[in-house]
Amino acid sequence: MRDTIPSLAIVIPCYNEQEVLPETSSRLLSLMRSYREENLVTGDSYILLIDDGSKDNTWEQIEALSRTHPEFRGLKLSRNFGHQHALLAGLHQANDVTITVSVDADLQDDLNAIREMILKYQQGAEIVYGVRDDRGSDSVFKRSSALLFYKILSWMGVESVYNHADFRLMSQITLDAFRQFGERNIYLRGMVPMLGYNSDTVYYKRTERFAGTSKYNLKKMLSLAWNGISSLSIQPLRFVTFCGFSIFSISILLSLYALYSYLFQETTMGWTSTVLPIYFLGGIQLLCIGLLGEYVAKIYKEVKQRPKYIIEKIVR
Ligand code: UDP
Ligand code: MG
Repeated sequence: MRDTIPSLAIVIPCYNEQEVLPETSSRLLSLMRSYREENLVTGDSYILLIDDGSKDNTWEQIEALSRTHPEFRGLKLSRNFGHQHALLAGLHQANDVTITVSVDADLQDDLNAIREMILKYQQGAEIVYGVRDDRGSDSVFKRSSALLFYKILSWMGVESVYNHADFRLMSQITLDAFRQFGERNIYLRGMVPMLGYNSDTVYYKRTERFAGTSKYNLKKMLSLAWNGISSLSIQPLRFVTFCGFSIFSISILLSLYALYSYLFQETTMGWTSTVLPIYFLGGIQLLCIGLLGEYVAKIYKEVKQRPKYIIEKIVR
């Protein structure tokens, strides 16, 4: 149990969100005010809105909000960098608070869960994951594709929190640790569990988008999914090695068969000399590609320069 009051930054990436922003900001404002009154968070807590290169009125609205209310701060990215990078920019920016809560602009996530997250933090959790109870409000396609994706991810050895998007509380010490991750391709919900630390979960019901349409088109969704797999797993490369090894083994057997046929059975002229190199070279090529893949995977891990360990505490 902690006994100091934390300062809070609510971090919200916004891309073309002019339809929802007025509602989102007014709800967040009253939420923040009530938290302050209850002494749940300190008076210097704030709401950080990140404009991810919107083409509509989003930035103008953010500017107006920060001019009229001291609770709001804005951050404008020079172009559309995508949800994950916009969120990361916000989290890096919010380095003057003890806790951050990231949430989408569209009010799909239940803002009331933030209170519970802060309480879990006060009970000792450094990271609190918001997990939706059911995905009833999502389309069948989105639901089943997400399920398949989580299955593939866990099969590839990536630890992720099921049904958790980017609605999450992170304390400053976990963000400090996260800054040590030097990589460019980020998939936050897969990387945060790598940090370790004491974590907890808050369940909530996800609703429909309050207004506007999804800013994740199919292309962005697929790109996020592929990024999740390729940034966190080397299994696709290992798969090539596996195929190479299997085919190489089979090709050896087939080569022996071709040789045997040539020596002891009637074969068409030229069959052996054609088929033997095909089997053999095909197998050996795939095996070598897989082998190269193994080293590429090692290089890939090295260039990421991820921390080899994270120290949570030192006592003297
Ligand atoms: N978003 C962003 N940049 C983008 C796409 C989305 O900052 O390129 C933000 C968006 O404004 C929202 C959040 O990411 O706050 C999640 O997007 P959305 O709700 O459209 O995704 P969905 O819930 O449909 O998966
Ligand atoms: Mg949404």
